Amino acid sequence: RFAVTLDRILTATTLPPRESTARAGAPGDGPAPAGTSGCGPPGSTTGAAGCPLAELRGVTFRYGPQARPVLDDFDLTLSEGAHLAVVGPSGAGKSTLTGLLAGLLPPQAGTVLLGGVPAGGADPAALARHRVLIPQEAYVFAGTLLENLRYLRPAAPPDEVDAAVHRLGLAPLVRRLGGLTATVHPPSLSAGERQLVAAVRAHLSSARLAILDEATCHLDPVAEATVEDAFASRPGALVVVAHRISSALRAREVLILDGGCPLRGPHDELLARSATYRELVGHWRGPQDRTHRTDATGGGP
Ligand code: ADP
Ligand code: MG
Repeated sequence: RFAVTLDRILTATTLPPRESTARAGAPGDGPAPAGTSGCGPPGSTTGAAGCPLAELRGVTFRYGPQARPVLDDFDLTLSEGAHLAVVGPSGAGKSTLTGLLAGLLPPQAGTVLLGGVPAGGADPAALARHRVLIPQEAYVFAGTLLENLRYLRPAAPPDEVDAAVHRLGLAPLVRRLGGLTATVHPPSLSAGERQLVAAVRAHLSSARLAILDEATCHLDPVAEATVEDAFASRPGALVVVAHRISSALRAREVLILDGGCPLRGPHDELLARSATYRELVGHWRGPQDRTHRTDATGGGP
């Protein structure tokens, strides 16, 4: 059932088939309308009436009947204004969590609610208006830069496109290629340039829930900060799977996944509470800090 790799699912779904955005009422034709009462379908009433943008309730997910659960009876709520960094060792389940939050992976138990609506029954177009997920391997298609950037919201006005291009640091690439209407030859872009294109595309979308799964790993720390700050200042909620400590420090809260009991809280609190987090932070900061950390905090969770 889960034979297709998660990355492939994420790439395919992050960039849906071309025809799905060409129709009227396609994902991102305009900002999601505000709801009037209660919680409605994702994209139509998201964020209305206090509905969390995403909620996992008692979610258990495994990749096969015999596999151990990646997440077990897991709860998570993301409300308007949330900025969560997800950290943990490789294989801990960070990408699986992003797939669940994006409504791409159906849990075996529990419920995924997006804008108050069960993700399983959500209309794909509404889902695409509600959330955007940027995977690590950014996808750029052969076409103009403008087509790539407006893919999730074809009606994005030119001044908004320009603003996002400058805000997220894509302007040098636009200049180098000869303008937004220049045709892109995807293999000629570096991995970092592809990530920037994907970031601007997602930033221009109308989605109020932005999920970055190591989406800036090929950027230098300054460019990464620029992108994350741009997303953090957008309305809605932001989830960043972090691969540098700076991403965790920028977030309001950190969620640690390490195969055990997940922990969520502000950076300082987790430093005090979690040996896994101290280990990870020490690793990110380098050997010098690891020595300092051990001296300063001692062992134990
Ligand atoms: P992370 O993003 O933290 O590195 P993942 O969410 O990708 O971790 O993976 C969590 C666990 O699920 C790992 O043990 C991984 O091997 C397993 N896994 C991930 N994707 C699949 C898949 N498509 N099929 C089977 N197992 C998978
Ligand atoms: Mg991953």
